[in-house]
Amino acid sequence: MSRAFNFSAGPAILPESVLQQAQQELLEWGDCRASVMEISHRDKAFVDVAARAEANLRQLMGIPESYKVLFLQGGATQQFALIPMNLCAPEQQVDFLLTGHWGEKALKEAGKVVNTRVCGSDAERGYRGLPAAEIDPQAAFLHVTPNETIHGVEMHSLPDSPVPIVADMSSTILSRPLDVSQYGVIYAGAQKNIGPSGLTVLIVDEALLGERKRSLPDIFDYRKHAAADSMLNTPPTFAWYLAGLVFEWLQAQGGLQAMGERNARKAQMLYDAIDGSDFYRNPVDPNARSWMNVPFTLADDALDKPFLAGAVERGLLGLKGHRAVGGMRASIYNAMPEAGVQALVDYMHEFAASHG
Ligand code: PMP
Repeated sequence: MSRAFNFSAGPAILPESVLQQAQQELLEWGDCRASVMEISHRDKAFVDVAARAEANLRQLMGIPESYKVLFLQGGATQQFALIPMNLCAPEQQVDFLLTGHWGEKALKEAGKVVNTRVCGSDAERGYRGLPAAEIDPQAAFLHVTPNETIHGVEMHSLPDSPVPIVADMSSTILSRPLDVSQYGVIYAGAQKNIGPSGLTVLIVDEALLGERKRSLPDIFDYRKHAAADSMLNTPPTFAWYLAGLVFEWLQAQGGLQAMGERNARKAQMLYDAIDGSDFYRNPVDPNARSWMNVPFTLADDALDKPFLAGAVERGLLGLKGHRAVGGMRASIYNAMPEAGVQALVDYMHEFAASHG
């Protein structure tokens, strides 16, 4: 057996060298004589791993000192509700800019704990681009989804906002450099560009965590998590350790500048293959095309099954599109090498030539 190129949207491909390192030290980690999974999260050895992961993430993203970095659980979905619960009183209003499925989900969940308003949406066009936003200056914050994983719509710049921006970066975090100080909150489920599922990273401007706006159980309270260095209860230690290895891998690749350049090349290669043929189609406006998730359809959807079967035979996995949009989707996160995208493009050319 050999490892295939995995284009899954998440959980997703991880750097092979990271998996190899984890495999090598799985039974005996450092001089612990036990697995990193088997030791207490309060053990100094693990506390050091956790602190190093945070320090490396801060270095990679240039996170200002005035921001807290929390390592949480519950996925991005839990944060859809916890962010408004931590940042707003129930009677306050939050604005949502909708560019796809996940923004809609965030809106629905937030609506259960705070007032919500849609300040811009591309829903009518089926989420193919970036709508204008009319942001209420009275809103507690603006919620955006900078990369919509299903629709393949990415905001390559932020809207001008009079209020703090809260960004669900689940599928684009660490894919290129960004200015953290432009955001009030950045959050992401780990299972795309960070590590295995089970871990959620939340980066929050301390200024937004001032006075508590409502009563919260401790486990839902970001202030409590921050005060406890994200060890209020037992954290997902293995996922945290593995995320730390991914951060070290990113540093060794040259950091986010180098990743951004590589990711731009990978995306270009794939969009060129799609645009250069009459057989494939991507519906997203060119200025909103995602670098991480590239949905595309074939000329005839009766060919979807043979396309997917042929892909699997060639070791190209996880290409089936989300049921909401159909067709194919290639997720080309940081850990997908350029050779993987090249292999996909070669296959697409051959398939179009024999079926077009
Ligand atoms: N937001 C985005 C942009 C996503 O891609 C996903 C998962 N695919 C989610 C939220 C939901 O994440 P989780 O499963 O970690 O709750």
